[in-house]
Amino acid sequence: MSSFHHPKSKLPTVGTTIFAVMSKLANEVGAINLGQGFPDFPIDPKLSALVHAAMQLGHNQYAPMPGLLALLEALSAKVQRLYDVTYEPASEITVTAGGTQAIFTAIAATVHAGDEVIIVDPAYDCYAPSVELFGGKPIHVRLGSDMRFDADAVQAAITPRTRMLMINTPHNPAGTILRDADMMRIVEMLHGTDIILLSDEVYEHLVFDGEPHASAINYPELRERAFVIFSFGKVFHTTGWKMGYALAPKELMVEFRKVHQFNVFSVNTPMQYALAEYLKEPLHYEQLPALYQAKRDRFLAGLKRTEFKPLACEGSYFQVAEYSAISDLPDVEFAKWFARERGVVGIPLSPFYKDPPEDQRLIRFCFAKQDATLDAAIEKLCAT
Ligand code: GLN
Repeated sequence: MSSFHHPKSKLPTVGTTIFAVMSKLANEVGAINLGQGFPDFPIDPKLSALVHAAMQLGHNQYAPMPGLLALLEALSAKVQRLYDVTYEPASEITVTAGGTQAIFTAIAATVHAGDEVIIVDPAYDCYAPSVELFGGKPIHVRLGSDMRFDADAVQAAITPRTRMLMINTPHNPAGTILRDADMMRIVEMLHGTDIILLSDEVYEHLVFDGEPHASAINYPELRERAFVIFSFGKVFHTTGWKMGYALAPKELMVEFRKVHQFNVFSVNTPMQYALAEYLKEPLHYEQLPALYQAKRDRFLAGLKRTEFKPLACEGSYFQVAEYSAISDLPDVEFAKWFARERGVVGIPLSPFYKDPPEDQRLIRFCFAKQDATLDAAIEKLCAT
C-alpha cells in the first residue's frame, strides 16, 4: 500500500474554469461558441508577417526579462499619446504572458498573508483564487443596479487591513464601464490610505458610443498606487498568444519584476518584435471601438428579436442577456441545456460571484465573432 498522502488542496473549492467547461461542451455538441471570449476571425496578415519575419531574422531566444526594449518604448509612446502620461520603458512597464499572469504577479508581489483584497462581484474568475493562494482574504462586494459600480458598497468594505482594491473597466462579464465620476469616488476613498489599486483594463479600446475609457492612468492619485493591466490578445485578436503588459510606478514595478522573473522570466520574443513594429501605426488600435461597436449592434439587433432581454453593453466584447422569459433554470443548468437544445453556448454569470444572487437569470454572449457566426447564432436564438 502506498504511504503517500496527497497534500491538502490550496484551492479546495476551485474546479475547472467555466470557460474550459463551456468550450468543451460547445465542441462536444457542435454548438456555436459565444462562450469563452475569443475572436473567430483572422488576425491582420501584417501582424503575422511581422512575427514570421522576426523568426526568420533569428529572434528566437530569450527576450530581456521585463520585455524587449523596442516594445517597452512603443508601449510608453502609446500611453503618452492616449493619456499624456509618461511611463518609463526601462522601469515602469513589463511585458507579461497575458493579462491573467500580470494580475497574478501583481497580487503575488504585494499581498501578504491576512491582507484583505476588495473584489467587486461579478468578478473575473482568476481574482479571488490568486488572492487566496498568497494567504490574502478576498472581501467581496457587488456591482449595484444595472451592473454599475457601487462606490458606497466599496467604500464600506475598506478596513485598516485592506491591501488592495481590484477594479475592471470595461467590465467582464458585465459589459459596463467606469466613468469619471466613479474614478473620482475611488480617488476619494483611497486618499490617505496605502491601498494598492489593481486596475484591470484589458478591454481598453473596446468602449462604445463615443465614451472615453476612464483609465486609472488619468488620475495621478490612482496612478501612484496602481498596477494597470492590459492585454494584446483582446485588442489584436490574438488571445492564443497569451501576451499582455503591466504598468506601475517604479517602486511597485520593482516588486512586480521580482516575482515575474521567477514566474515566466520573459515572454516570447518574435511576437514582441512584431508588436513593437505594429504599435507604431495608431490606426491598429484606433479602429477597434468602431469594429466592435458594429458587432455589438448587429448582435443586439438580433437579440431584440428573441425572448432574451439584453442589459446595457457599454464596453468589452460581451453582451449580457436576461433569460427568465425562456426558462427558470439556474444559469449554469440553463447554459448547458441551451447549448445542447438550441446549439449556442454562452457563459452563465453565477461562477463570477462568491454568493450568486439566487433569482438572477443572466447569461453572457461573446460577440467578437464574424458577422456570419453572429447571424447564425441569432437564427438559433430566435428559434426559442
Ligand atoms: N477572458 C476570457 C473570457 O472572459 C476567457 C479566458 C479563459 O478562458 N481563461 O471569456
